[in-house]
Amino acid sequence: MRIGTGYDSHRFEPGRPLILAGVSVPYERGLAGHSDADAIAHAVTDALLGAAALGDIGTHFPPSDEKWRGANSLELLAHAYDLLERQNYQAVNIDVTIVCEQPKLGPYVPAMRETLARVLGIGPHAVSIKAKTNEGMGWIGCGEGLAVMAVALIDRIRP
Ligand code: MG
Repeated sequence: MRIGTGYDSHRFEPGRPLILAGVSVPYERGLAGHSDADAIAHAVTDALLGAAALGDIGTHFPPSDEKWRGANSLELLAHAYDLLERQNYQAVNIDVTIVCEQPKLGPYVPAMRETLARVLGIGPHAVSIKAKTNEGMGWIGCGEGLAVMAVALIDRIRP
C-alpha cells in the first residue's frame, strides 16, 4: 500500500460556473482557472499521482498547454488514474476536505462522492468528502477562494 496527499486552491471569480468533483454547484461565482478549475478533482489527482510517485498535475497537464484550456478536470483525473492503472495500482480509498466559507456544499457531497467513485471505478463508500468553513478567518474566511486537501491510498492490483 502507498499513500499520497494533494492540495489545491482557487480564487472565486464572478461569471464562472462553480464545479467541484464534477458537480455543478449553484452560486453567484465560480473558480478562476485555466481548466474548469475543479479544485477537488485537482487535489485528488495530485494525491493519486503522489501515492504512485508519478509527478504532479502541473507536469502532466501544464497550464501553458492550450490543449487543457477549459478542460473537464474529471478527464484529467481519469487520465492520471490510467497512468496508475498501467503501473498496476488501484485506489483503495480517498478522503477529501474542502475548506470553503460559501456556498454551503453539504447537499452536493453525495453527488460528488458518486462522481469521483465512478471515475475511479470504486464504490462511493471508498470516497469520503467533508466540507467545512474557515470560521471566517483569512482569505478563505472572507470568501476570496477555497482550498481542498485530499489523501489517497493505493494498492497493487492482485493478479
Ligand atoms: Mg487547480
